[in-house]
Amino acid sequence: EPHAKRYVEVNYSEGSDDKKWSKRDFPWTKKLEANNKKVFGNHSFRPNQREVINATMSGKDVFVLMPTGGGKSLTYQLPALICPGVTLVISPLVSLIQDQIMHLLQANIPAAYLSANMEWSEQQEILRELCSGHCSYKLLYVTPEKVAKSNALLRQLENLYARELLDRIVIDEAHCVSQWGHDFRPDYQSLGILKHKFPNTPVLALTATATASVKEDVVQALGLVDCVIFRQSFNRPNLRFSVIPKTKKCMEDIDKFIKDNHFDECGIIYCLSRMDCEKVAEKLQDCGHKAAFYHGSMDPDQRAKVQKLWSKDEINIICATVAFGMGINKPDVRFVIHHSLPKSIEGYHQECGRAGRDGQHASCVLYYSYSDYIRVKHMLSQGSVEQNSFASGYRSSTMNSGRVLETNTENLLGMVSYCENDVDCRRYLQLVHFGEKFDPVNCRKTCDSCFKNQSLVNKDVTGIAKHLVELVKSAQQNFSASHILEVYKGSMSQIVKKYQHNTLSLHGAGQNVAKGDALRVIRHLVIEEILVEDVKKSDLYGSVSSILKVNEKKAYDLLEGRQTIILSCGWCPTGNIPFGAPDLFINIGGGGETGMLPYDISAKGSPELKRSLSRL
Ligand code: ADP
Ligand code: MG
Ligand code: ZN
Repeated sequence: EPHAKRYVEVNYSEGSDDKKWSKRDFPWTKKLEANNKKVFGNHSFRPNQREVINATMSGKDVFVLMPTGGGKSLTYQLPALICPGVTLVISPLVSLIQDQIMHLLQANIPAAYLSANMEWSEQQEILRELCSGHCSYKLLYVTPEKVAKSNALLRQLENLYARELLDRIVIDEAHCVSQWGHDFRPDYQSLGILKHKFPNTPVLALTATATASVKEDVVQALGLVDCVIFRQSFNRPNLRFSVIPKTKKCMEDIDKFIKDNHFDECGIIYCLSRMDCEKVAEKLQDCGHKAAFYHGSMDPDQRAKVQKLWSKDEINIICATVAFGMGINKPDVRFVIHHSLPKSIEGYHQECGRAGRDGQHASCVLYYSYSDYIRVKHMLSQGSVEQNSFASGYRSSTMNSGRVLETNTENLLGMVSYCENDVDCRRYLQLVHFGEKFDPVNCRKTCDSCFKNQSLVNKDVTGIAKHLVELVKSAQQNFSASHILEVYKGSMSQIVKKYQHNTLSLHGAGQNVAKGDALRVIRHLVIEEILVEDVKKSDLYGSVSSILKVNEKKAYDLLEGRQTIILSCGWCPTGNIPFGAPDLFINIGGGGETGMLPYDISAKGSPELKRSLSRL
């Protein structure tokens, strides 16, 4: 059985900086531009679309990280149209696929799909068309379990491949490959078979959410070779973010919020359980809103009806579980409200991403209570949380449920720390999760944290910074931030003792420094690139963890006493700091007015750090 771990050799470069993909003199450029206008009705390309298309048309394996609504579909539909053969598209949800096919057929692009719940005769017909001499389909969509389980399909693909008519393999929502993602699907892991069987067909992997470890997993599991990666900022400037304490008056708050800010406008309210959806919808109806609910236990007709009413603006507000939304493409969603805690930062980012696709302002409000955390956690342990799709029951064969739970809990904790943190810029906190640096100054007070003004004091933390860098250096560059902190604080845990000989002189040097502050300094050093967080593969699960290294060049001045590190410390006027107020807040962002938090809180949420700690 071909498996992820057979493809270890990965050699990729970040393509976004590579000017060659932006060129306009590829043999297909004219045709591309003409069809973009004529068939798709677009006047131009959006950021990275041209580049991605040029790279995949050049036969490269390509990995695309583009925010929801960024226009990923065009990057394979347009090539499919101008290539002679068939493009295979793997997509996780039948509802998504149907939506796409509808649009393609409207544009007169022949496309079909295969899924397990289709009549066999119908499937046969499509397969027959595929192997006919003049296959009319430009795109064939399939669900991942089809690839994993259908030999008939594989045979037809082999046939196409042999006739050099398998143009391209597209893996949509590619983050589903990874156990670290928020939407893991075991069937995606078997997609490595495609590159194995069809080595000459370029693969195009698309996702809106990928941390460094998810990216690594995807590249490995799909067996991408010498792959070009395109990523663009995940910041959505037109969205406003806030987290509001959830009280008993939550429904009144929501009602008021909508009436004050988005009266008669269109929005989504994400709820935890099916029952919540129904209750929230009912309350809103009582308050005079045009609201309806949407969740996984409704029958498909009902769901389709609600979705249709919503897209026609006959219903303004949908109260839904996360089952609603993947691939939903309504441009004028003016607000996304989370009635309870999302299950991960990635999921949250994606759910919020459904707002304001037309580029106009939109609000994302999250109602948070710690008791919801307990509730979600309990539901996770029971396996009763509705997932991003209706394909339930996919936790399983390839992964033991203990690890599923562990990953889910880590992701959830990340979300808790995001909510508990009412000082740091929300954008900063989200983007850091995607490995993106964001200067909170650029938030321009469009999140609740930045909106609050805070007084700042500068604090010299050079001593702490120097110790930490020396520690990372003496630890022979092999430990996670959490481990470094343990040593710095003088922990006597087994693992620290085991490696103590390397780090003896600095063991306990930071006894009097709050752990949160020290971690904050580490983060700052990482942002300044004095320390580098390196992603390391671990044989154990074939996955990745992150370790700290010293960037000798940048650390030199600090270690030689020629650089001081000043961080802005603030005092939070609201006094509203969870987990006990630490006496020091440090500004990480470099921007004056924002970016303060008691760092241990946000550290709890860093899955990378937690993971590396649990590995040790
Ligand atoms: P994603 O898959 O990245 O979430 P989609 O491919 O569904 O995004 O595209 C989102 C919307 O953007 C669609 O309505 C699509 O028609 C539109 N779109 C994509 N590319 C362009 C473009 N170059 N110009 C105008 N609209 C575009
Ligand atoms: Mg998409
Ligand atoms: Zn902000």
